[in-house]
Amino acid sequence: MEISKPHAALLSGPGMGHLIPVLELGKRLVNLHNFSVTIFIASYTSASKSQVLRSTMNPQLCDIIELPPVDISGRLHHDAKIFTKISVMMRETKPLLRSAISAMKQPPTVLIVDLFSTEALEIAEELGIPKYVFMATNAWFLSLTIYVPTLDKVVKGEYVDQTEPFQIPGCKSLKPEEVVDPMLDRSNQQYSEYLRIGMEFPKGDGILVNTWEDLQPTTLAALRDEMLLGGFANNLPIYPIGPLTRPVGSSISKDQQLFTWLAKQPSESVIFASFGSGGTLSYEQTTEVAWGLELSKQRFIWIVRAPTVTNRDSAFFTSGNSGDDPSNYLPEGFIGRTHEVGMIVPLWAPQVDILSHSSVGGFLTHCGWNSILESITNGVPMIAWPLYAEQKMNATLLTEELGVAVRPDTLPSKKVVEREEIAKMVRMIMIDEQGFGIRAKVKELKQSAEKALSDAGSSHHALSKLAESCCCVNQGA
Ligand code: UDP
Repeated sequence: MEISKPHAALLSGPGMGHLIPVLELGKRLVNLHNFSVTIFIASYTSASKSQVLRSTMNPQLCDIIELPPVDISGRLHHDAKIFTKISVMMRETKPLLRSAISAMKQPPTVLIVDLFSTEALEIAEELGIPKYVFMATNAWFLSLTIYVPTLDKVVKGEYVDQTEPFQIPGCKSLKPEEVVDPMLDRSNQQYSEYLRIGMEFPKGDGILVNTWEDLQPTTLAALRDEMLLGGFANNLPIYPIGPLTRPVGSSISKDQQLFTWLAKQPSESVIFASFGSGGTLSYEQTTEVAWGLELSKQRFIWIVRAPTVTNRDSAFFTSGNSGDDPSNYLPEGFIGRTHEVGMIVPLWAPQVDILSHSSVGGFLTHCGWNSILESITNGVPMIAWPLYAEQKMNATLLTEELGVAVRPDTLPSKKVVEREEIAKMVRMIMIDEQGFGIRAKVKELKQSAEKALSDAGSSHHALSKLAESCCCVNQGA
Protein backbone atom coordinates (compact mmCIF):
# COMPACT_ATOMS: atom_id res chain seq x y z
CA MET A 1 0.00 0.00 0.00
CA GLU A 2 1.43 3.39 -1.00
CA ILE A 3 1.67 5.78 1.93
CA SER A 4 0.45 8.75 -0.09
CA LYS A 5 -2.80 7.19 -1.20
CA PRO A 6 -5.98 8.03 0.67
CA HIS A 7 -7.20 4.93 2.47
CA ALA A 8 -10.94 4.46 2.88
CA ALA A 9 -12.38 2.02 5.42
CA LEU A 10 -15.91 1.00 4.42
CA LEU A 11 -18.21 -0.74 6.86
CA SER A 12 -21.09 -2.73 5.40
CA GLY A 13 -24.08 -4.05 7.29
CA PRO A 14 -25.17 -7.62 6.68
CA GLY A 15 -27.51 -8.43 3.83
CA MET A 16 -26.83 -8.54 0.12
CA GLY A 17 -28.66 -5.27 -0.44
CA HIS A 18 -26.03 -3.51 1.69
CA LEU A 19 -22.97 -5.51 0.79
CA ILE A 20 -23.27 -5.27 -3.01
CA PRO A 21 -23.30 -1.45 -3.31
CA VAL A 22 -20.56 -1.12 -0.66
CA LEU A 23 -18.32 -3.45 -2.68
CA GLU A 24 -19.03 -1.46 -5.84
CA LEU A 25 -18.31 1.81 -4.04
CA GLY A 26 -14.98 0.37 -2.89
CA LYS A 27 -14.08 -0.68 -6.42
CA ARG A 28 -14.90 2.75 -7.83
CA LEU A 29 -12.78 4.52 -5.22
CA VAL A 30 -9.87 2.25 -6.18
CA ASN A 31 -10.34 2.32 -9.96
CA LEU A 32 -11.39 5.91 -10.51
CA HIS A 33 -9.83 7.81 -7.63
CA ASN A 34 -6.69 5.87 -6.76
CA PHE A 35 -7.75 5.07 -3.18
CA SER A 36 -6.71 2.09 -1.13
CA VAL A 37 -9.85 0.54 0.26
CA THR A 38 -10.51 -1.85 3.13
CA ILE A 39 -14.03 -3.21 3.39
CA PHE A 40 -15.21 -4.45 6.77
CA ILE A 41 -18.11 -6.84 6.73
CA ALA A 42 -20.22 -7.82 9.69
CA SER A 43 -20.07 -11.57 9.51
CA TYR A 44 -22.96 -13.99 9.16
CA THR A 45 -23.25 -17.27 7.36
CA SER A 46 -24.68 -17.27 3.87
CA ALA A 47 -23.53 -19.17 0.80
CA SER A 48 -24.80 -16.44 -1.49
CA LYS A 49 -22.86 -13.80 0.40
CA SER A 50 -19.54 -15.54 0.10
CA GLN A 51 -20.26 -16.14 -3.58
CA VAL A 52 -20.72 -12.42 -4.07
CA LEU A 53 -17.55 -11.68 -2.14
CA ARG A 54 -15.49 -14.10 -4.16
CA SER A 55 -16.89 -13.12 -7.52
CA THR A 56 -17.03 -9.37 -7.06
CA MET A 57 -13.44 -8.96 -5.97
CA ASN A 58 -11.76 -10.55 -8.92
CA PRO A 59 -9.19 -9.10 -9.36
CA GLN A 60 -8.74 -8.34 -5.67
CA LEU A 61 -9.05 -4.56 -5.70
CA CYS A 62 -9.93 -4.00 -2.05
CA ASP A 63 -8.87 -5.66 1.19
CA ILE A 64 -11.87 -7.41 2.67
CA ILE A 65 -12.00 -8.10 6.38
CA GLU A 66 -14.87 -10.19 7.72
CA LEU A 67 -15.37 -9.23 11.35
CA PRO A 68 -15.95 -12.18 13.70
CA PRO A 69 -19.61 -13.10 14.25
CA VAL A 70 -21.23 -11.61 17.36
CA ASP A 71 -23.69 -13.44 19.54
CA ILE A 72 -26.73 -11.19 19.91
CA SER A 73 -29.17 -13.82 21.10
CA GLY A 74 -29.10 -12.66 24.73
CA ARG A 75 -29.73 -9.04 23.73
CA LEU A 76 -32.95 -9.44 21.83
CA HIS A 77 -36.60 -9.63 22.80
CA HIS A 78 -38.31 -12.74 21.53
CA ASP A 79 -40.23 -10.67 18.95
CA ALA A 80 -37.21 -8.68 17.68
CA LYS A 81 -37.58 -7.67 14.05
CA ILE A 82 -34.89 -7.84 11.37
CA PHE A 83 -34.22 -4.09 11.68
CA THR A 84 -33.55 -4.49 15.41
CA LYS A 85 -31.42 -7.59 14.90
CA ILE A 86 -29.18 -5.83 12.39
CA SER A 87 -28.95 -2.67 14.52
CA VAL A 88 -27.94 -4.68 17.60
CA MET A 89 -25.51 -6.77 15.57
CA MET A 90 -23.81 -3.64 14.24
CA ARG A 91 -23.67 -2.15 17.75
CA GLU A 92 -21.95 -5.28 19.07
CA THR A 93 -19.62 -5.23 16.08
CA LYS A 94 -18.33 -1.74 16.89
CA PRO A 95 -15.60 -2.79 19.39
CA LEU A 96 -14.43 -5.40 16.86
CA LEU A 97 -14.16 -2.74 14.20
CA ARG A 98 -12.24 -0.47 16.56
CA SER A 99 -9.71 -3.23 17.37
CA ALA A 100 -9.40 -4.25 13.71
CA ILE A 101 -8.69 -0.67 12.70
CA SER A 102 -6.18 -0.10 15.47
CA ALA A 103 -4.34 -3.28 14.41
CA MET A 104 -3.90 -1.98 10.84
CA LYS A 105 -0.38 -1.11 9.74
CA GLN A 106 -1.77 1.54 7.44
CA PRO A 107 -4.66 3.20 9.29
CA PRO A 108 -7.61 4.54 7.30
CA THR A 109 -7.77 8.20 6.38
CA VAL A 110 -11.56 8.20 5.97
CA LEU A 111 -14.39 6.05 7.34
CA ILE A 112 -17.61 5.37 5.40
CA VAL A 113 -20.35 3.47 7.24
CA ASP A 114 -23.73 2.29 6.10
CA LEU A 115 -27.16 3.13 7.51
CA PHE A 116 -27.06 0.53 10.28
CA SER A 117 -23.62 1.58 11.52
CA THR A 118 -23.98 5.26 12.33
CA GLU A 119 -22.79 4.50 15.88
CA ALA A 120 -19.40 3.60 14.39
CA LEU A 121 -18.93 7.24 13.30
CA GLU A 122 -17.46 7.85 16.75
CA ILE A 123 -14.48 5.67 15.81
CA ALA A 124 -13.60 8.17 13.08
CA GLU A 125 -14.08 10.92 15.64
CA GLU A 126 -11.54 9.22 17.93
CA LEU A 127 -9.08 8.86 15.03
CA GLY A 128 -9.65 12.42 13.84
CA ILE A 129 -10.49 11.36 10.30
CA PRO A 130 -13.42 12.38 8.06
CA LYS A 131 -16.52 10.23 8.20
CA TYR A 132 -19.48 9.69 5.92
CA VAL A 133 -22.72 7.75 5.96
CA PHE A 134 -23.60 5.71 2.89
CA MET A 135 -27.30 5.27 2.16
CA ALA A 136 -27.47 2.17 -0.04
CA THR A 137 -30.98 3.06 -1.19
CA ASN A 138 -32.63 6.18 -2.57
CA ALA A 139 -33.08 9.85 -1.70
CA TRP A 140 -36.76 9.56 -0.67
CA PHE A 141 -35.93 6.98 2.00
CA LEU A 142 -32.94 9.10 3.04
CA SER A 143 -35.23 12.12 3.48
CA LEU A 144 -37.69 10.12 5.54
CA THR A 145 -34.87 8.77 7.72
CA ILE A 146 -33.54 12.20 8.58
CA TYR A 147 -37.06 13.63 8.92
CA VAL A 148 -38.39 10.94 11.24
CA PRO A 149 -37.18 12.73 14.41
CA THR A 150 -39.36 15.69 13.30
CA LEU A 151 -42.35 13.43 12.56
CA ASP A 152 -41.81 11.82 15.95
CA LYS A 153 -42.44 15.17 17.62
CA VAL A 154 -45.52 16.20 15.64
CA VAL A 155 -47.40 12.98 14.93
CA LYS A 156 -49.53 11.62 17.74
CA GLY A 157 -50.43 7.92 17.80
CA GLU A 158 -49.33 5.27 15.35
CA TYR A 159 -48.21 6.40 11.90
CA VAL A 160 -50.30 3.68 10.23
CA ASP A 161 -53.48 5.00 11.91
CA GLN A 162 -53.15 8.55 10.53
CA THR A 163 -55.74 9.69 8.01
CA GLU A 164 -53.57 12.22 6.17
CA PRO A 165 -50.34 11.50 4.29
CA PHE A 166 -47.04 12.75 5.74
CA GLN A 167 -45.42 15.72 4.03
CA ILE A 168 -41.66 15.43 3.80
CA PRO A 169 -39.90 18.40 2.19
CA GLY A 170 -39.13 17.88 -1.50
CA CYS A 171 -40.77 14.47 -1.56
CA LYS A 172 -43.92 12.89 -2.75
CA SER A 173 -46.25 12.73 0.25
CA LEU A 174 -46.04 9.45 2.11
CA LYS A 175 -49.25 7.52 2.71
CA PRO A 176 -49.63 6.02 6.20
CA GLU A 177 -49.80 2.49 4.74
CA GLU A 178 -46.48 3.07 2.95
CA VAL A 179 -44.33 3.80 5.99
CA VAL A 180 -41.19 1.73 6.38
CA ASP A 181 -41.26 -1.37 8.61
CA PRO A 182 -39.54 0.27 11.61
CA MET A 183 -42.36 2.86 11.73
CA LEU A 184 -45.17 0.30 11.95
CA ASP A 185 -45.23 0.16 15.74
CA ARG A 186 -43.82 3.02 17.76
CA SER A 187 -43.51 0.91 20.90
CA ASN A 188 -41.28 -1.65 19.21
CA GLN A 189 -37.49 -1.45 19.57
CA GLN A 190 -37.02 -1.19 15.81
CA TYR A 191 -38.70 2.23 15.89
CA SER A 192 -36.31 3.60 18.52
CA GLU A 193 -33.37 2.20 16.55
CA TYR A 194 -34.64 3.92 13.39
CA LEU A 195 -35.19 7.20 15.23
CA ARG A 196 -31.67 7.04 16.64
CA ILE A 197 -30.21 6.42 13.18
CA GLY A 198 -32.12 9.44 11.82
CA MET A 199 -30.63 11.60 14.59
CA GLU A 200 -27.11 10.25 14.02
CA PHE A 201 -26.96 10.92 10.26
CA PRO A 202 -25.93 14.57 10.74
CA LYS A 203 -22.91 13.46 12.79
CA GLY A 204 -21.14 12.53 9.55
CA ASP A 205 -19.29 14.98 7.31
CA GLY A 206 -21.59 14.13 4.42
CA ILE A 207 -24.01 11.56 3.04
CA LEU A 208 -23.47 9.32 0.03
CA VAL A 209 -26.65 8.03 -1.59
CA ASN A 210 -27.16 5.34 -4.22
CA THR A 211 -29.17 7.44 -6.67
CA TRP A 212 -28.39 10.08 -9.27
CA GLU A 213 -29.31 13.72 -9.82
CA ASP A 214 -31.68 13.21 -12.75
CA LEU A 215 -33.57 10.37 -11.07
CA GLN A 216 -34.63 12.29 -7.94
CA PRO A 217 -33.86 15.98 -8.59
CA THR A 218 -36.51 17.55 -6.34
CA THR A 219 -35.77 15.36 -3.36
CA LEU A 220 -32.03 15.91 -3.69
CA ALA A 221 -32.55 19.67 -3.96
CA ALA A 222 -34.66 19.64 -0.79
CA LEU A 223 -32.06 17.60 1.07
CA ARG A 224 -29.55 20.34 0.30
CA ASP A 225 -31.90 23.14 1.23
CA GLU A 226 -31.42 24.02 4.86
CA MET A 227 -34.74 25.83 5.00
CA LEU A 228 -36.69 22.87 3.69
CA LEU A 229 -35.38 20.21 6.00
CA GLY A 230 -35.76 22.40 9.04
CA GLY A 231 -32.06 23.17 9.19
CA PHE A 232 -31.21 19.51 9.49
CA ALA A 233 -28.80 19.33 6.64
CA ASN A 234 -26.69 22.12 8.09
CA ASN A 235 -24.85 22.37 4.80
CA LEU A 236 -24.00 18.72 5.04
CA PRO A 237 -22.89 17.70 1.56
CA ILE A 238 -25.08 15.12 -0.19
CA TYR A 239 -23.28 12.98 -2.77
CA PRO A 240 -25.59 11.10 -5.17
CA ILE A 241 -23.10 8.60 -6.58
CA GLY A 242 -25.35 5.91 -8.05
CA PRO A 243 -26.38 3.72 -9.56
CA LEU A 244 -23.88 1.41 -7.87
CA THR A 245 -24.73 -2.02 -9.22
CA ARG A 246 -22.87 -5.27 -9.73
CA PRO A 247 -21.33 -5.52 -13.17
CA VAL A 248 -22.74 -8.06 -15.60
CA GLY A 249 -20.77 -11.31 -15.63
CA SER A 250 -19.54 -10.95 -12.04
CA SER A 251 -21.23 -14.14 -10.84
CA ILE A 252 -18.93 -17.11 -10.72
CA SER A 253 -21.40 -19.95 -10.73
CA LYS A 254 -23.53 -19.40 -13.80
CA ASP A 255 -26.23 -21.98 -14.23
CA GLN A 256 -25.39 -23.24 -17.73
CA GLN A 257 -28.77 -24.85 -18.32
CA LEU A 258 -30.53 -21.60 -17.47
CA PHE A 259 -28.43 -19.47 -19.80
CA THR A 260 -28.56 -22.01 -22.62
CA TRP A 261 -32.36 -21.93 -22.35
CA LEU A 262 -32.40 -18.13 -22.13
CA ALA A 263 -30.29 -17.81 -25.28
CA LYS A 264 -32.94 -19.73 -27.24
CA GLN A 265 -35.82 -17.40 -26.30
CA PRO A 266 -36.93 -14.46 -28.44
CA SER A 267 -35.81 -10.95 -27.58
CA GLU A 268 -37.51 -9.45 -24.48
CA SER A 269 -39.92 -12.40 -24.22
CA VAL A 270 -39.08 -13.68 -20.70
CA ILE A 271 -40.40 -12.29 -17.41
CA PHE A 272 -38.05 -12.76 -14.47
CA ALA A 273 -39.69 -13.19 -11.04
CA SER A 274 -37.59 -12.90 -7.90
CA PHE A 275 -38.10 -11.61 -4.38
CA GLY A 276 -34.58 -10.55 -3.45
CA SER A 277 -32.20 -12.16 -1.03
CA GLY A 278 -34.74 -12.55 1.73
CA GLY A 279 -38.30 -12.41 0.39
CA THR A 280 -40.71 -15.26 0.93
CA LEU A 281 -44.39 -15.73 0.09
CA SER A 282 -47.19 -17.63 1.78
CA TYR A 283 -48.31 -20.95 0.34
CA GLU A 284 -51.49 -19.37 -1.02
CA GLN A 285 -49.58 -16.53 -2.67
CA THR A 286 -47.02 -18.91 -4.16
CA THR A 287 -49.88 -20.84 -5.75
CA GLU A 288 -51.38 -17.66 -7.23
CA VAL A 289 -48.01 -16.52 -8.64
CA ALA A 290 -47.58 -19.92 -10.32
CA TRP A 291 -51.05 -19.75 -11.85
CA GLY A 292 -50.58 -16.09 -12.80
CA LEU A 293 -47.39 -16.86 -14.70
CA GLU A 294 -49.03 -19.79 -16.43
CA LEU A 295 -52.17 -17.85 -17.37
CA SER A 296 -50.13 -14.94 -18.74
CA LYS A 297 -48.82 -17.29 -21.44
CA GLN A 298 -45.44 -15.57 -21.25
CA ARG A 299 -42.08 -17.25 -20.86
CA PHE A 300 -40.64 -16.95 -17.36
CA ILE A 301 -37.77 -17.57 -14.96
CA TRP A 302 -38.87 -17.77 -11.33
CA ILE A 303 -36.57 -17.93 -8.31
CA VAL A 304 -38.63 -19.94 -5.83
CA ARG A 305 -38.34 -20.38 -2.07
CA ALA A 306 -40.43 -22.64 0.12
CA PRO A 307 -43.53 -20.77 1.36
CA THR A 308 -43.58 -19.43 4.90
CA VAL A 309 -46.50 -18.75 7.19
CA THR A 310 -45.72 -15.33 8.55
CA ASN A 311 -42.57 -13.39 7.71
CA ARG A 312 -42.09 -11.70 4.40
CA ASP A 313 -38.36 -11.44 5.02
CA SER A 314 -37.77 -14.81 6.63
CA ALA A 315 -34.96 -15.91 4.31
CA PHE A 316 -33.01 -12.69 4.92
CA PHE A 317 -30.27 -14.27 7.03
CA THR A 318 -30.26 -17.65 5.31
CA SER A 319 -31.23 -17.20 1.63
CA GLY A 320 -33.62 -20.11 2.24
CA ASN A 321 -33.31 -23.80 2.78
CA SER A 322 -31.52 -25.68 0.05
CA GLY A 323 -33.37 -28.88 0.92
CA ASP A 324 -36.70 -27.52 -0.32
CA ASP A 325 -37.97 -29.29 -3.43
CA PRO A 326 -40.23 -26.90 -5.45
CA SER A 327 -42.50 -29.76 -6.54
CA ASN A 328 -43.53 -30.10 -2.88
CA TYR A 329 -45.13 -26.67 -2.80
CA LEU A 330 -45.89 -25.55 -6.38
CA PRO A 331 -49.36 -26.41 -7.77
CA GLU A 332 -49.70 -29.99 -8.95
CA GLY A 333 -48.61 -30.42 -12.55
CA PHE A 334 -47.30 -26.82 -12.83
CA ILE A 335 -43.67 -27.76 -13.48
CA GLY A 336 -44.65 -30.32 -16.11
CA ARG A 337 -47.13 -28.05 -17.89
CA THR A 338 -44.73 -25.09 -18.08
CA HIS A 339 -41.40 -26.82 -18.58
CA GLU A 340 -41.00 -25.57 -22.16
CA VAL A 341 -41.80 -21.95 -21.42
CA GLY A 342 -40.56 -21.57 -17.87
CA MET A 343 -37.52 -22.16 -15.69
CA ILE A 344 -37.89 -22.69 -11.95
CA VAL A 345 -34.71 -21.96 -9.99
CA PRO A 346 -34.67 -22.74 -6.27
CA LEU A 347 -33.35 -20.05 -3.90
CA TRP A 348 -30.81 -18.03 -5.83
CA ALA A 349 -29.63 -17.19 -9.36
CA PRO A 350 -27.25 -14.61 -10.85
CA GLN A 351 -29.81 -11.84 -11.11
CA VAL A 352 -27.73 -9.20 -12.88
CA ASP A 353 -26.75 -11.65 -15.60
CA ILE A 354 -30.39 -12.61 -16.10
CA LEU A 355 -31.67 -9.03 -16.18
CA SER A 356 -29.01 -8.00 -18.66
CA HIS A 357 -29.85 -10.84 -21.06
CA SER A 358 -31.54 -9.66 -24.25
CA SER A 359 -34.27 -12.33 -23.90
CA VAL A 360 -35.55 -10.77 -20.66
CA GLY A 361 -38.34 -8.22 -21.05
CA GLY A 362 -39.86 -7.80 -17.59
CA PHE A 363 -39.13 -8.19 -13.88
CA LEU A 364 -41.54 -9.09 -11.09
CA THR A 365 -39.58 -7.71 -8.15
CA HIS A 366 -39.93 -7.29 -4.40
CA CYS A 367 -38.60 -3.74 -4.93
CA GLY A 368 -35.31 -3.98 -3.08
CA TRP A 369 -33.34 -0.94 -4.22
CA ASN A 370 -30.51 -2.98 -5.78
CA SER A 371 -33.01 -5.00 -7.76
CA ILE A 372 -34.65 -1.80 -8.97
CA LEU A 373 -31.34 -0.30 -10.05
CA GLU A 374 -30.35 -3.52 -11.80
CA SER A 375 -33.65 -3.46 -13.69
CA ILE A 376 -33.39 0.22 -14.65
CA THR A 377 -29.77 -0.04 -15.78
CA ASN A 378 -30.81 -2.88 -18.07
CA GLY A 379 -33.93 -1.10 -19.34
CA VAL A 380 -36.31 -3.75 -17.95
CA PRO A 381 -39.86 -2.66 -16.90
CA MET A 382 -41.16 -3.97 -13.58
CA ILE A 383 -44.10 -5.34 -11.63
CA ALA A 384 -43.65 -3.81 -8.20
CA TRP A 385 -44.36 -6.35 -5.44
CA PRO A 386 -43.14 -4.79 -2.18
CA LEU A 387 -42.68 -7.08 0.82
CA TYR A 388 -40.63 -5.47 3.62
CA ALA A 389 -38.27 -2.66 4.71
CA GLU A 390 -38.72 0.51 2.56
CA GLN A 391 -40.05 -1.44 -0.43
CA LYS A 392 -43.58 0.03 -0.33
CA MET A 393 -42.07 3.48 -0.85
CA ASN A 394 -39.90 2.13 -3.63
CA ALA A 395 -42.96 0.64 -5.34
CA THR A 396 -44.71 4.02 -5.20
CA LEU A 397 -41.62 5.77 -6.54
CA LEU A 398 -41.51 3.34 -9.48
CA THR A 399 -45.18 3.52 -10.36
CA GLU A 400 -46.27 7.06 -9.47
CA GLU A 401 -43.11 9.10 -9.94
CA LEU A 402 -40.87 7.31 -12.42
CA GLY A 403 -43.52 5.48 -14.45
CA VAL A 404 -41.48 2.32 -15.02
CA ALA A 405 -43.67 -0.26 -13.26
CA VAL A 406 -47.18 -1.50 -12.59
CA ARG A 407 -48.30 -2.79 -9.20
CA PRO A 408 -51.19 -4.81 -7.76
CA ASP A 409 -54.27 -2.92 -6.55
CA THR A 410 -53.65 -3.95 -2.95
CA LEU A 411 -50.39 -4.40 -1.07
CA PRO A 412 -49.14 -8.00 -1.41
CA SER A 413 -48.20 -7.89 2.29
CA LYS A 414 -51.87 -7.24 3.20
CA LYS A 415 -53.86 -9.47 0.89
CA VAL A 416 -53.22 -12.33 -1.51
CA VAL A 417 -52.87 -11.06 -5.09
CA GLU A 418 -54.94 -13.30 -7.32
CA ARG A 419 -53.82 -15.13 -10.44
CA GLU A 420 -55.91 -13.08 -12.90
CA GLU A 421 -54.41 -9.82 -11.66
CA ILE A 422 -50.90 -11.27 -11.84
CA ALA A 423 -51.42 -12.52 -15.38
CA LYS A 424 -52.81 -9.11 -16.39
CA MET A 425 -49.79 -7.26 -14.95
CA VAL A 426 -47.36 -9.64 -16.65
CA ARG A 427 -49.02 -9.10 -20.03
CA MET A 428 -49.16 -5.38 -19.41
CA ILE A 429 -45.43 -4.92 -19.00
CA MET A 430 -44.45 -7.58 -21.54
CA ILE A 431 -46.73 -7.19 -24.54
CA ASP A 432 -49.88 -5.13 -24.07
CA GLU A 433 -50.19 -1.80 -25.80
CA GLN A 434 -50.95 -0.03 -22.48
CA GLY A 435 -47.47 -1.02 -21.32
CA PHE A 436 -45.76 0.78 -24.18
CA GLY A 437 -45.14 3.97 -22.16
CA ILE A 438 -43.64 2.01 -19.26
CA ARG A 439 -41.30 0.10 -21.57
CA ALA A 440 -40.19 3.32 -23.27
CA LYS A 441 -39.69 5.19 -19.97
CA VAL A 442 -37.42 2.57 -18.45
CA LYS A 443 -35.20 2.69 -21.54
CA GLU A 444 -34.93 6.46 -21.08
CA LEU A 445 -33.91 5.97 -17.45
CA LYS A 446 -31.31 3.43 -18.51
CA GLN A 447 -29.71 6.14 -20.63
CA SER A 448 -30.00 8.67 -17.84
CA ALA A 449 -28.13 6.26 -15.51
CA GLU A 450 -25.39 5.73 -18.09
CA LYS A 451 -25.03 9.48 -18.50
CA ALA A 452 -24.76 10.01 -14.72
CA LEU A 453 -21.92 7.48 -14.51
CA SER A 454 -20.02 8.74 -17.55
CA ASP A 455 -16.87 10.83 -17.11
CA ALA A 456 -18.83 14.06 -17.44
CA GLY A 457 -21.82 12.73 -15.50
CA SER A 458 -23.26 13.90 -12.18
CA SER A 459 -22.48 10.74 -10.19
CA HIS A 460 -18.90 10.64 -11.39
CA HIS A 461 -18.61 14.29 -10.46
CA ALA A 462 -20.12 13.67 -6.99
CA LEU A 463 -17.67 10.85 -6.24
CA SER A 464 -14.78 13.05 -7.44
CA LYS A 465 -15.93 15.79 -5.06
CA LEU A 466 -16.06 13.31 -2.22
CA ALA A 467 -12.59 11.99 -3.09
CA GLU A 468 -11.26 15.54 -3.20
CA SER A 469 -12.74 16.45 0.15
CA CYS A 470 -11.24 13.32 1.75
CA CYS A 471 -7.82 14.26 0.36
CA CYS A 472 -8.14 17.92 1.38
CA VAL A 473 -8.94 16.97 4.96
CA ASN A 474 -6.05 14.52 5.01
CA GLN A 475 -3.58 17.06 3.71
CA GLY A 476 -4.89 19.64 6.14
CA ALA A 477 -4.76 17.26 9.12
N1 UDP B 1 -29.74 -11.38 -5.86
C1 UDP B 1 -29.19 -12.28 -6.75
N2 UDP B 1 -29.83 -13.47 -6.91
C2 UDP B 1 -30.99 -13.80 -6.27
C3 UDP B 1 -31.54 -12.86 -5.36
C4 UDP B 1 -30.90 -11.65 -5.18
O1 UDP B 1 -28.15 -12.04 -7.36
O2 UDP B 1 -31.49 -14.89 -6.50
C5 UDP B 1 -29.06 -10.08 -5.65
C6 UDP B 1 -29.74 -9.01 -6.48
O3 UDP B 1 -29.18 -8.98 -7.77
C7 UDP B 1 -29.46 -7.77 -5.66
C8 UDP B 1 -29.39 -8.28 -4.23
O4 UDP B 1 -29.18 -9.68 -4.30
O5 UDP B 1 -28.22 -7.22 -6.02
C9 UDP B 1 -30.65 -8.03 -3.44
O6 UDP B 1 -30.68 -6.70 -3.05
P1 UDP B 1 -32.02 -5.86 -3.01
O7 UDP B 1 -31.67 -4.50 -2.51
O8 UDP B 1 -32.71 -5.92 -4.30
O9 UDP B 1 -32.95 -6.60 -1.99
P2 UDP B 1 -32.74 -7.23 -0.53
O10 UDP B 1 -32.40 -8.64 -0.78
O11 UDP B 1 -31.68 -6.47 0.16
O12 UDP B 1 -34.09 -7.09 0.07
